Amino acid sequence: MIDWIADYRETLGERPVLAPAKPGEIKAMLPPSPPDHPEAMETVLADFDRIARHGITNWQHPRFMAYFPGNALLAGVLADLASTGLGVVGLTWAASPAVTELEEVMMGWMRQALGLPAAFSGVIQDTASTATLVALVCARERTTRYALARGGLHGEPKRLTIYTSSQAHSSVEKAALIADFGRANLRLVPCDANYAMRVDCLAQMIEEDVAAGSTPCAVVATTGTTAAAALDPVGEIAKLARAHDMWLHVDGAMAGSAMILPEFRWMWEGIENADSIVLNPHKWLGVPFDCSLYYVRDAEHLVRVMSTNPSFLRSSVDDQVKSLRDWGIPLGRRFRALKLWFVLREQGIVALQARLRRDLANAQMLAARVRATPGWQVLAPVLLQTVCVRHEPSGSQGEALDRHTLDWVERVNRSGVAYLTPALLDGRWMVRISIGSAETEESDVQRVWQAIRQAAEGAT
Ligand SMILES: *Cc1c(COP(=O)(O)O)cnc(C)c1O
Repeated sequence: MIDWIADYRETLGERPVLAPAKPGEIKAMLPPSPPDHPEAMETVLADFDRIARHGITNWQHPRFMAYFPGNALLAGVLADLASTGLGVVGLTWAASPAVTELEEVMMGWMRQALGLPAAFSGVIQDTASTATLVALVCARERTTRYALARGGLHGEPKRLTIYTSSQAHSSVEKAALIADFGRANLRLVPCDANYAMRVDCLAQMIEEDVAAGSTPCAVVATTGTTAAAALDPVGEIAKLARAHDMWLHVDGAMAGSAMILPEFRWMWEGIENADSIVLNPHKWLGVPFDCSLYYVRDAEHLVRVMSTNPSFLRSSVDDQVKSLRDWGIPLGRRFRALKLWFVLREQGIVALQARLRRDLANAQMLAARVRATPGWQVLAPVLLQTVCVRHEPSGSQGEALDRHTLDWVERVNRSGVAYLTPALLDGRWMVRISIGSAETEESDVQRVWQAIRQAAEGAT
């Protein structure tokens, strides 16, 4: 299996980036029922290889520029194998002391690497979506002074409102709905020309809600939005949050990794005033999925909201150790800290910084080329590693332009040369080129740009 993974990584460049499979084709490759008798592992692996060739989109490919970089550095792959090989479940400290303590230490290492104040402590979650849900539940419980111990939101006299920008990730809306705030109490704050939250609009919406008898509960700011990698002004938002006693959660799922670069920390200036922060080392940083870091300033509050204490989970050392089950939703936990530990040690912060700087420089290089090419637009400021582009041949606009955009991106993706994802910006389709696979070099970016031009300009 290790050899298979090594061969796979070596031959990535020869594979199409996007899986060739059409809907239903993988299902058709599988028997409809489970085997009654054991099969040889060789047969299983051969089938796995065939399915991987046809049905896997190659995220580690140097020309994977869709969604976001989802790097899985090999040191982290080995750590995940070790975690699964150990086969432990960290229910409590005693259920495997290293699972709890390594996680505590790794959250501390990462806090330092990100330049966050010592007041923050945290826990590893599966995804940013879960972390944001936990954040909004904690916000709800702080505003209501622990309504969960009474009648929950049903017993509250006032409506609680949540604020995030119109460019926020869909996970914020999902969290707000699951945490029972209700869509009617979720405010999408308009953005400025750079797709950042407008603080004047936020202030006005809060005032209107207060005047209407609601209680502002939380604001979710984003450092690195999904479509255009925009930056909400965290410091300004923090001031409003404080003035109205609101929870401030910062979603840095994608761009948070860049905060290991001191020269980029201005991007979330004011972060020390956040109540909670999430970032995903399983994106750009290179720790294999899943590894989402959730930091809070008031760990006691988190534990008070999340803890339950049945007798079978109690032990004599409870007052000396952390019970990470009380820091989030799941009881069971994987040994996820191991892959963070392996990656940080095998790479070192300096090598991680160098790779991120390479990607940021490649994004600037691409943006300059796009801007210099007639008929092409860079649609949003290139602050990070995402470049939003559109080919606008003269006379093409409206729905015809949308069709053109979706047509050329589909052609690039089907060619196997690259995988790019289109997204809506101001109601029109554009294409995001998200640079930052561990293997992506400048020559890969050049090749993708060439393929894009061929697909788009050949089609006009
Ligand atoms: C990727 C991303 C998310 C969702 O991440 P999951 O870990 O998959 O839940 C949320 N917010 C932003 C800004 C993201 O980039």
